[in-house]
Amino acid sequence: MSKARFQRVTLKLSGEALQGAQGYGIDPPVLDTIAGELKAVVELGVETAVVIGGGNIFRGVKASAKGMDRATADYMGMMATVMNAIALQDGLERIGVYTRVLSAIEIKEVAESYIRRRATRHLEKGRVVIFAAGTGNPYFTTDTAAALRAMEVGSQVLLKATKVDGVYDKDPLEHADAVRFDRVEYLDVLSRGLHVMDATAISLCKENNLPIVVFDMLATGNIERVVCGERLGTLVAPKHYEWPQEQPPGRS
Ligand code: UDP
Repeated sequence: MSKARFQRVTLKLSGEALQGAQGYGIDPPVLDTIAGELKAVVELGVETAVVIGGGNIFRGVKASAKGMDRATADYMGMMATVMNAIALQDGLERIGVYTRVLSAIEIKEVAESYIRRRATRHLEKGRVVIFAAGTGNPYFTTDTAAALRAMEVGSQVLLKATKVDGVYDKDPLEHADAVRFDRVEYLDVLSRGLHVMDATAISLCKENNLPIVVFDMLATGNIERVVCGERLGTLVAPKHYEWPQEQPPGRS
């Protein structure tokens, strides 16, 4: 019996997760580490979808603040996510993990176009599905794309991998007395302006009762721990939601 406590998950990986210490672009050793972590999850039999960001290459809001047309800048941001998706695909395939990149913007020489039924079929066949180009619409983010795709393909949980180990009442990098939440409800995130995901993404998850786990991406093995039921980071979920029991040692 698999140790996994979820059958299908969607992981939101920010573009920044790929840049490592270099501060821009894709750091190959970091990419390889992430690919290895995903492989471990796939080997547990978990159907795994990944929504990848593009902030390590281009961010629409930032460029529009400097005068660029917002929609144009956002399309550039979406193209950046396609580059990251192809890089992650390459990293996974080099270690023998089958993958498909599905893009919300048609770019058929490099990726399949997003079709929900195709995405679920790939997942059923055990392929890692990497969703590229966000929602395909400007003025959105890949966080919102992650919430949307997670619901469309029927993921049981949205895994939000970040640089910090959960959700805090204030920025832990700036305030030494910041307190980490073990669990919060969507409305608290919205009303207190907690940094989890943008408000559109949180609202979508709230409407559809999709639980989110916010956890530290930098610690090795964390994605696997979460899918095996370990309560890492912060859980954002409805009050009635019950976290699946962790598998006791020796019973796998
Ligand atoms: N973007 C967009 N629509 C989407 C998703 C992304 O326009 O549905 C653009 C937007 O400009 C954004 C950029 O793509 O700044 C990169 O995505 P995001 O900032 O979400 O990446 P992350 O912060 O996760 O690396």
